[in-house]
Amino acid sequence: MMSGTKIALVTGAGRGIGRAIALKLAEQGCAVAVNYSRSVEAALEVAGIISANGGRAITVKADVSSHAEVTEMFKEVSERLGGVGILVCNAGITRDNLLMRMKDEDWHDVISADLSSLYYCAKEAVRPMLKEHYGRIIAVSSVTGLIGNSGQCNYAAAKAGMTGFIKSLAREIGSRGITANAVAPGYIGTDMTSSLSGDIQDMMLKNIPAGRQGTPDDVASLVAFLASDEASYIHGQVIAVDGGMTM
Ligand code: NAP
Repeated sequence: MMSGTKIALVTGAGRGIGRAIALKLAEQGCAVAVNYSRSVEAALEVAGIISANGGRAITVKADVSSHAEVTEMFKEVSERLGGVGILVCNAGITRDNLLMRMKDEDWHDVISADLSSLYYCAKEAVRPMLKEHYGRIIAVSSVTGLIGNSGQCNYAAAKAGMTGFIKSLAREIGSRGITANAVAPGYIGTDMTSSLSGDIQDMMLKNIPAGRQGTPDDVASLVAFLASDEASYIHGQVIAVDGGMTM
């Protein structure tokens, strides 16, 4: 439950986990800013579903690996919808390769899109949240940031960086009505995982005690709870949604 209409900004909300989060937050009564960088049609569809269900949503284009574009995005959301009370940093990419074969570009692209984006977005969000004495900052990290994964040194470093960032931020802002948490999804069915080879998909499934792949809704339910009033004392945590993969 949420008191009053909260304004939520979800990055990378046109597809996959971000889409499910945007729809779930709208169901909980939030007005939602649906960020996208390339998937304009998909983002418009998400906003359309929210509006058709009687909710309020806008789409906002920004490449979150650019600080300037993130600054513009917050300005636009604030003008068109209002100040962001709930920030969900979900946008992310992978550029997998063994370290020996990894290109500098693969390293920098992933660090920028997955980790620097959190720094840019949280920095824009936190000042107005401090003024309002209210805020929810939720980072979508990954179990890879907790346990590592062969071929993902760049992605694991970015995702572990997100959890370190969230814990530090939580210590800075904890007494001001703002919570900061991270969720760590396991193996979730989206475009990101559908391109993995059959062998890798089978191996992942073998390591999941729940015996199935997770869904974007499994992650969205946790994010929506962390965004709710009921979660006001959950702070600085990293919570896995992984069917037991990392227990
Ligand atoms: P996905 O289906 O590949 O979607 C990625 C989303 O991120 C898209 O909406 C994309 O938007 C957006 N995005 C990527 N780069 C962006 C940028 N520079 N600026 C703005 N948006 C950008 O992936 P997903 O599986 O839903 O993943 C969502 C998050 O969950 C990611 O952070 C991922 O690391 C994390 N995660 C996923 C899994 C999994 O198993 N799927 C597991 C653990 C963690 P555009 O299409 O508009 O570019």
